[in-house]
Amino acid sequence: MIKTISYLGLGTMGSGMASNLLKAGYQLTVWNRSAEKCEPLARKGARIADSPAEAVRDVDLVMYMLSNDHAVDEVVFGANGILSGINECQIAMDMSTVLPATSLREEEAYAKHGVDFLDAPVFGSKQESADAKLWIMAAGNKAIFEKVKPVLEHLGQTVHYFGKNGNAAAMKLVGNLIVALEMEALAEGLVLAQKAGLDLKTVMEVVKVADFRSPLLVSNGQNILQRDFSSSFALKLMLKDAGLIEKFAEGLRSSIPALRVAERNLASAVALGFGKENASALIKALEKEAGVEVKAS
Ligand code: NAP
Repeated sequence: MIKTISYLGLGTMGSGMASNLLKAGYQLTVWNRSAEKCEPLARKGARIADSPAEAVRDVDLVMYMLSNDHAVDEVVFGANGILSGINECQIAMDMSTVLPATSLREEEAYAKHGVDFLDAPVFGSKQESADAKLWIMAAGNKAIFEKVKPVLEHLGQTVHYFGKNGNAAAMKLVGNLIVALEMEALAEGLVLAQKAGLDLKTVMEVVKVADFRSPLLVSNGQNILQRDFSSSFALKLMLKDAGLIEKFAEGLRSSIPALRVAERNLASAVALGFGKENASALIKALEKEAGVEVKAS
């Protein structure tokens, strides 16, 4: 049974998950590149480690949630990284959104140390992370998954097993392809509605109930109308994910024409300086082209 856990990467998503692990009663060690983000968790009872290598010593399970493939490279494979501290019979789990190929590279490197590895990315954002309502996918050895599942159930409302390593990372990219296209559709639709002189509050009332409704369209649409772009999923992370989807799909010769359009608009919005705002700030690229601002009257 898993009792001791290390959590590395206390950003928007990681801090909520680490907090819920403490609430669930696990003995927790935390590490973050910017050390000050460890403080709120230390006040709740977590031990702070000085490096990834030190963080992972002697715990049952090592979990991490980092920005991108490069951050995973540094924290796992780098000097004083996880691999220089982890030992046989421990379990490592990467929850970041990364390429399936990165998950496979991690699996191989951990196996050389006798360590089991799961890729376990999530759907849901800042609020779902804080409320332990994430939708979690996991892949790797089934017996190890069963061992870790009770931990994941403290963080999410669903946990799906996807088979061999890399498959959960692949599912995350499939889901984010759909998310990116929903965001693009919402942005194009709202700009068109504004141009057509429709009452935007009534537009959103229809979006909320019609047969194409989705929680993502509703929450982002309402925030756009309020001009609230405070970040729960940063625009620059969505652009990063579009790049991962492109690479992944190209490798499999799978067609992604609409994703390429969304990616171009994401890149324009980031170039306009909105990268740290929420992904819904994608609309600002379209607004600029159309010469309007979408806002509730
Ligand atoms: P975030 O708030 O930007 O946090 C990123 C974390 O990665 C921070 O702890 C950051 O450390 C760390 N990091 C970045 N580069 C690093 C490096 N080179 N070395 C060490 N640590 C590094 O991002 P987030 O929103 O939590 O997202 C984290 C991951 O979850 C991403 O892969 C994202 O795509 C995925 N995701 C996000 C959401 C969402 O809605 N936000 C939903 C599902 C999945 P510092 O604090 O020092 O910068």
